[in-house]
Amino acid sequence: MRATLDIDLQAVQANWRHLRDSLQKGCECAAVVKADAYGLGAAEVVTALLAAGCKTFFVATLNEAIALRASVPTGCTIVVLGGLCHGAPSIFAEHNLVPVLYDISSVTSWANYCRGIKAAHPSVIKIDTGMNRLGLALAELEMLLDQGRLVDECSPIMLMSHLACADTPDAVLNGQQLNLFKQAKATFSVRFPWARYSLANSSGIFLGEHYHFNTARPGAALYGVNPTPFDAQNPMHQVVRLQLPVMQVKTVSKGGSIGYGGTFVAAKDMRIAIVFGGYADGILRLLSSRGHGYYNGHPIPIVGRVSMDSIAYDVSSIPDSDISSGDMVELLGTQGIDALAQDASTIGYEILTSLGRRYRRHYLNVTKGDARV
Ligand SMILES: *Cc1c(COP(=O)(O)O)cnc(C)c1O
Repeated sequence: MRATLDIDLQAVQANWRHLRDSLQKGCECAAVVKADAYGLGAAEVVTALLAAGCKTFFVATLNEAIALRASVPTGCTIVVLGGLCHGAPSIFAEHNLVPVLYDISSVTSWANYCRGIKAAHPSVIKIDTGMNRLGLALAELEMLLDQGRLVDECSPIMLMSHLACADTPDAVLNGQQLNLFKQAKATFSVRFPWARYSLANSSGIFLGEHYHFNTARPGAALYGVNPTPFDAQNPMHQVVRLQLPVMQVKTVSKGGSIGYGGTFVAAKDMRIAIVFGGYADGILRLLSSRGHGYYNGHPIPIVGRVSMDSIAYDVSSIPDSDISSGDMVELLGTQGIDALAQDASTIGYEILTSLGRRYRRHYLNVTKGDARV
């Protein structure tokens, strides 16, 4: 009896193709696979994306990049968003990894390193267009371009920036960031005519072609998160299905309480199913008496607090003979990631990256048919 997490790699590939086909002509679709591909397994996801035709991958840390390098052909690019804060320039160069340079100090280190070994190693330069997270200020970029040499020695292959409100098409900040990025591109492209330009994450792609430039960096949408929250219809395929085994089914009499703190009190006699899986498995405690799962397609509410290793579901609506220990309750699948996230007052990203290590993972459609890992 084990909690089972199915990860459909064909759905990941279909999602990548869908995003690629939504991009304006000549725009490359990269893939963000940081944090172990949002918790789904970077090695498996990257293998599937390579087969679909993806050639550029973004990760967060140097360690993530080194782990991936072996399974990614030399001709494909691995960009490290966290850049040199994760390790010395020599390690990046040794492993054929591209750091994102987001401040004067990292630009200087990369330039010094490349000058020292008399070799050109590519980098990505990131500017801050208004999110106020990582990135050079526009004035700093202009200063670097004026000075010339330092930025030349960095061999930049791309200029990037990140949108703060891509999932909110009406946000004024989107247009402001777009304008600043265009402005930076205008000066940057004079000196580096071969450079690529990247602004859009998953939701950014759906803001329209102006936001595409020539490289998009989707992450969440590849894994089934809805990149268009303003649009009820999720254009992406569901990738994950999480099923939890029933450990015990029992009756709670009217007035009885369920779980820690006795926060849920039965208003009438009811049947509950205790299933394996809890906050240690990424089933957020905020789902206590709020979320629901599905049993054979029937929604069943979570009652009482989510424990570390178990949850109680109200199964009064299911005939006794139809549910017993060993049966599976579906927590993710029919119900998309976004619906569950909403019940937990969070976003699909956090649901995915919280998925625990105790699940038995099945990778579906690895190559042909169903391969199981
Ligand atoms: C995580 C991340 C992305 C991917 O964002 P999604 O919303 O998951 O598509 C793109 N760019 C940067 C800089 C990121 O940190």
